[in-house]
Amino acid sequence: MAKHIFVTGGVVSGLGKGLTASALGMLLRSRGVRVTMQKLDPYLNVDPGTMNPFEHGEVYVTGDGGETDLDLGHYERFIDTELNSDSNATTGSIYSAVIAAERRGDYLGRTVQVIPHITDEIKRRIARLATDDVDVVITEVGGTVGDIEILPFLEAIRQFRLDVGRENVFFLHVTLVPFIGPSGEQKTKPTQHSVTELRSRGIQPDAIVCRSEQPLTTELKRKISNLCDVDVESVVNAADASSIYVIPLVLHEEGLDRTVCRHLRLETDPADLRGWQELVGRIESADRPVRIGIVGKYVSLPDAYLSVVESLNHAAFHFGAKLQLEWIQAEDIEGMLAASRLADLDGIIIPGGFGQRGIEGKIAAAGYAREQGLPCLGLCLGMQVMTIEYARSVLGLEGANSTEFDPDSPHPVIDLMETQRGVTDLGGTMRLGNYIAELREGSQVHAAYGASVVKERHRHRYEFNPRYRGRFDDGDFVCSGVSPDNRLVEFIELRSHPFWVATQAHPEFRSRPAEPAPLFRELMRAALRRAEQRTLELLHLEPSSADVRDGSNLSGTGPTTVDREALTIGAAGADS
Ligand code: GLN
Repeated sequence: MAKHIFVTGGVVSGLGKGLTASALGMLLRSRGVRVTMQKLDPYLNVDPGTMNPFEHGEVYVTGDGGETDLDLGHYERFIDTELNSDSNATTGSIYSAVIAAERRGDYLGRTVQVIPHITDEIKRRIARLATDDVDVVITEVGGTVGDIEILPFLEAIRQFRLDVGRENVFFLHVTLVPFIGPSGEQKTKPTQHSVTELRSRGIQPDAIVCRSEQPLTTELKRKISNLCDVDVESVVNAADASSIYVIPLVLHEEGLDRTVCRHLRLETDPADLRGWQELVGRIESADRPVRIGIVGKYVSLPDAYLSVVESLNHAAFHFGAKLQLEWIQAEDIEGMLAASRLADLDGIIIPGGFGQRGIEGKIAAAGYAREQGLPCLGLCLGMQVMTIEYARSVLGLEGANSTEFDPDSPHPVIDLMETQRGVTDLGGTMRLGNYIAELREGSQVHAAYGASVVKERHRHRYEFNPRYRGRFDDGDFVCSGVSPDNRLVEFIELRSHPFWVATQAHPEFRSRPAEPAPLFRELMRAALRRAEQRTLELLHLEPSSADVRDGSNLSGTGPTTVDREALTIGAAGADS
């Protein structure tokens, strides 16, 4: 029978509860335990699909087309396992199911109530993940203990422990131990209050993960242990880390996985963290500078592009690159300003998005990258704007656009497919989840993936308009990946460009820390090449300030003290 770990949070939101849960999942996996994960979200939206990215961050898409909370992205990246839409349940979806059952008459006229009907539905959602091929289900309860909305969830997990037995359930509570400047002290009171609140709901935590800026002293851990009635070795400290990928090592050091396994009576192999340690070593020693810009609409909330950023990080880890991210508001680069904003970047990403705002800026960025040989990766909407840019600037199709932005465009190079026209319901009209593409032999994407058939996740309504395929066939522009029936364009690229590649899919959802998504890896390779090329050019053309001062070497042949060889070796990449 599967065991269950429930992760709750206290004191404040944004403590990294999802990351803590993910890191624990990773540690259990490293012991050979089969783990799956789930997020219960207390809000009323039925799924995050229609939620504003400015407010809620990215919508994470699972292989089966679920539009889910961004924490599922952390789960998949840490436990390296594909989840599905069952791994995210919201209050909205739970109520919908109960109300639909009531309408069908399933409750035979009885009074339908939060307890037991809503709580039973929550328990059903938890239990359905505990399949035969899973040893441990980790369930993160969104929100913070003390929120009104969270009560049915706390009641459900309390009952769940009774239903399946104490030795099969582990309650992990994540709290904050703030540092109060004036008194120069770390404070345990918020943790005490939060645990008191949890206990008032009938849940005694089995371990507490204390988030803090600086490490906690043993004395403080003892105090928390004593006041919260948790063994001292079950008071785990996760001080702020330099990278989220360090967290599993910190929790392991603190003995969390051992404590969990002991409590749940899980017989496991010892944790094998060699691969992960090697990854962290690479992260910490990264030294090849590279600047990548994300040209987007939601740049004021970087969580809106969480998986894109993580995929870039993974690609950087691969090459030992020290990534400097530049957030570029697409609207800011409309018209003439593109050059000034993009000139010192080594690569750009034009990510996915919806709606008109900033579109012309993204088109300008795509054009600048195309003309200047700047590596550019387009994702979903990014592929659409790159297509529009090429149509307008190279193919001379004036007014080319997507019908999403200009329904009367004379050249709708991006358009709805016939089957989607006239559908007005916001849910259920998108191409969602995994789709297969066939890649063209000899293309950059074929080389990147090292495969002829690939599978990537999708989330969009509009497509490359097949009526225009022929016009794009000009010898340079290549539709390098298409659907098996050859109707949908999935990948595009330019033959003459170092890297101007785009996909209608979202490869960022399948990237892993030790195995970056191929297109991100290749963008990074091209960007590093450009960065290192530029360094060489600078060294070559511009005399160093010391040279200027003493008047020597003004001919511009460059200094000789730098080992140029070392710089170029890096450019070859450390690819596997
Ligand atoms: N708005 C575009 C569409 O619906 C692109 C969507 C996206 O980038 N995810 O097709």
